[in-house]
Amino acid sequence: MLPRQMVTVLAPAKLNLSLDVVGLLPGGYHALDMVMQAITLYERVTIRRSEGLSLRMPGSRVPANDKNTAIKAALAFFHYTGLLAGAEMVIEKRVPVRAGMAGGSADAAAVLVGLNALYGANLSMSELCALGAGIGADVPFALMGGSCRVQGLGDLLKPLPPCPDCWFTVVMPDYGISTPEAFAAYDRVGSTVHPDCAAQEAAIRAGDLAALAAAAGNALEECSGAKATPAIRQELLAHGALCALMTGSGAAVLGLFREEDKARQAAQALQSRWPQVYLARPDRGGARLVFPSGPKSGSFLV
Ligand code: ATP
Repeated sequence: MLPRQMVTVLAPAKLNLSLDVVGLLPGGYHALDMVMQAITLYERVTIRRSEGLSLRMPGSRVPANDKNTAIKAALAFFHYTGLLAGAEMVIEKRVPVRAGMAGGSADAAAVLVGLNALYGANLSMSELCALGAGIGADVPFALMGGSCRVQGLGDLLKPLPPCPDCWFTVVMPDYGISTPEAFAAYDRVGSTVHPDCAAQEAAIRAGDLAALAAAAGNALEECSGAKATPAIRQELLAHGALCALMTGSGAAVLGLFREEDKARQAAQALQSRWPQVYLARPDRGGARLVFPSGPKSGSFLV
């Protein structure tokens, strides 16, 4: 068989169904307890064999330099495998930036999955996760996807059964939030919100969407100072969301809906006021090959 010349990978964004800060680790890092959910909003990454290393992100303002998670992932892959090769990478960026939806981590995961397939390196999922954890705390989740309880720095993953069928309306305001600044604000202000992530895990295992929503919450929401969050949350709840909360360190806010029509109506209504509104469903997988066709993992909308 001729070697592959090109691969295309889809990598889903994530939402936090809960996020709690449960302690401080040496070095000032925060110990987290979270439930993360991959959703049907994807980064699309195409990688071609090449002698050098290059990255283009048409239409995106994120710099394509050596701080970019995609470049970091490619360098980590070539260093680990010892392959003397390169890659020409193009990212169609669809996940909003500084949203708490781990778009940068999805890009890194997509590059690791893509290079592994392009060069037939056969790295295992645990090897990819170990490489990914060195790039960013959310990269292992971006590789695994689906529904996970996530603890530690974000690197300790427990895969859960698929979350009960539901819809998400996700609203990104006209500003983003830097993750380090969100944690610095938490250190100054703290939070009165501490969601019960164990109860949310149990709700997912039981397929109980109402209990999942009742256990939702984000310990970074109050201190983030994100001015639009309360208004967006109120609008999502007024349109019938079972719960509404900020995802990750913000700035995007999600509403969880049982019914598609309510989620669509909410998305349509909020579009007139907020610049970026997305409608998505849970995705059962993580970063995966779509060309040449890879293993199917769950159904998704693109
Ligand atoms: P998380 O939930 O993981 O904190 P986020 O959605 O808040 O993610 P991202 O959009 O993934 O944040 O990344 C934000 C920062 O990372 C930006 O300041 C950006 O310059 C930098 N960055 C580096 N590489 C990328 C990339 N490929 N895509 C997006 N941002 C990137």
